[in-house]
Amino acid sequence: MGILLQNALIITQNPNNDIFTGDILIERNVISQIGHNIASSGHQIYQLDGLVITPGFIQSHVHLCQTLFRNLSDELELLEWLEKYIWPLEMSHNENSLQASVQLGLAELLLNGTTSILDMGNARYQEIIFQEMATSGIRGLSGMVMMDTGNQEYKQGTDQLIDRTIELIEKWHNGHNGRIQYALAPRFVLSCSPKLWKEVKKLSEKYNLIIHSHSSENQKEWQQVKQLTGYSNLEYFVRNNLASSKLCLAHCIWVSEQEMQMLSEYQINVLHCPSANLKLASGVAPIPEFLEKGINVSLGSDGAACNNNLDIFNEMRLASFIQKLRSGVTSISAKAVFDMATSGGAKSLGLSDQIGSLGKGKKADLVVMDLNKVHSIPADDIYAQIVFSGKSSNVRHVMVDGKWVVYDQKLQNFSEKQIIENAWNQIQILFARQKSSSELPKEV
Ligand SMILES: [Zn+2]
Repeated sequence: MGILLQNALIITQNPNNDIFTGDILIERNVISQIGHNIASSGHQIYQLDGLVITPGFIQSHVHLCQTLFRNLSDELELLEWLEKYIWPLEMSHNENSLQASVQLGLAELLLNGTTSILDMGNARYQEIIFQEMATSGIRGLSGMVMMDTGNQEYKQGTDQLIDRTIELIEKWHNGHNGRIQYALAPRFVLSCSPKLWKEVKKLSEKYNLIIHSHSSENQKEWQQVKQLTGYSNLEYFVRNNLASSKLCLAHCIWVSEQEMQMLSEYQINVLHCPSANLKLASGVAPIPEFLEKGINVSLGSDGAACNNNLDIFNEMRLASFIQKLRSGVTSISAKAVFDMATSGGAKSLGLSDQIGSLGKGKKADLVVMDLNKVHSIPADDIYAQIVFSGKSSNVRHVMVDGKWVVYDQKLQNFSEKQIIENAWNQIQILFARQKSSSELPKEV
């Protein structure tokens, strides 16, 4: 028996950008038919008159381990924020606090229609992230975050990092019907040795994995990379043979004309996080210039500690508005932003053949929205209605891999009440543990 979604306005994001009122038939985890008047006999029917179906949203840069640090350390720039708060907090996670953080993040992401994520994992207890992604029903790529140089307190041995990464890849990559995948996660140039990058490159080739990292987020970071390596971030990746369509770089704010050419030539994916870039006062990435050069751009909310939400609607809206301020009102369209949140995300994850659009044979990852709300009517352009006036409260049902993960705005695989209670408990326990530890900041 299939699942038949009837009579909704379907925004396909297919190559023709077809939009029509019709039906979608889902059998097992894929779309087996999409069109008009699909025969209904033998299927479970959902009448969706007046509702809108879009491809599931894809957030290509998140840190689930930081969700528990929401609304802390709000007035610092990147490097100080990382050293003083984020790294100590990430390292102070135990299994319970990490689980609470990950569940809280996944709950928020699913409720706002995010069906796929690329997560930069944690240095410890990475298995919990995979386990919780699997349980939640989300499509998730993650990997243990790797740091083997720089700050003495947080770095780990290169061989140890590689051995542990291989163990995790072999256990989790392509598990749960392919819904869970491994993505290598060297944090950024300042925290990874040349030897580690070399090993990462080898693993990427051996297991066919994407490489998820940060680059050119902050001017001081850019300068430090230049001092340390003699190269800018992008030059460093090119010279170390890491530049390819498998490389996914969060931010890319501070890039020269020459570096922009490198992004384009090597088809590197830019993971744009507008809220985080504004909140950490990092800068505004030259997204219209990237798009002009054919560089793939996708969206992410980064971590709840620097955003402070994980809401794709916030990111879409800001991705457009900050460019309007920077480069003029016509610099980026609502459709271009919607592409970043769907097909652009799929391309970053290397999954364009499976997700990011709705069509026959594609994975059944989709969002059912009710746009007939006081904050989102009237409208004459559906993309503008979603990108400029849409909110997560428009999201009614969410499906991943053919299964409802949110139905009638309720999580299907988690208890929202329990997640909230657990998050409050675990942050208190974590703070108590921190206060008794001299290595961690007293301000918290
Ligand atoms: Zn990040």
